Amino acid sequence: MDCLFCKIVKKEIPAPRVYEDEHAIVVKDISPQAPLHFLALPRKHYAGVHEVGAADNKLFEQLFNAINAVVAKEKLAEAGYRLVINFGEKAGQSVPHIHVHILSGRSMHWPPG
Ligand code: 5GP
Ligand code: ZN
Repeated sequence: MDCLFCKIVKKEIPAPRVYEDEHAIVVKDISPQAPLHFLALPRKHYAGVHEVGAADNKLFEQLFNAINAVVAKEKLAEAGYRLVINFGEKAGQSVPHIHVHILSGRSMHWPPG
């Protein structure tokens, strides 16, 4: 499959990893929108969270375990952080492989743009 994030998972395209385990990886975003901007990706390809069926919903636990490992490692709880998942062009998704943005290190506004 021609998916940029599958290629990053398989190390066919390099990306600085801040965490990895057998289920998920967390990389630095190539175009950071905050002083700290990471992307948590499941190794398995799905375009969106609604595509993950009940039989595979351990994926979410595994993905959030990876996120929590980075929150602890980078001391993000002290700084505050925001998690974002975009789906579809209108919501701003540009890579159709589930990824959770982890943003931290600056004040943020609500509602998001
Ligand atoms: P989306 O717009 O789909 O929610 O988020 C995709 C994110 O992937 C963007 O923040 C973009 O900067 C990041 N990105 C795109 N290409 C690459 C890449 O080759 N390497 C890394 N590390 N991040 C990428
Ligand atoms: Zn993929």
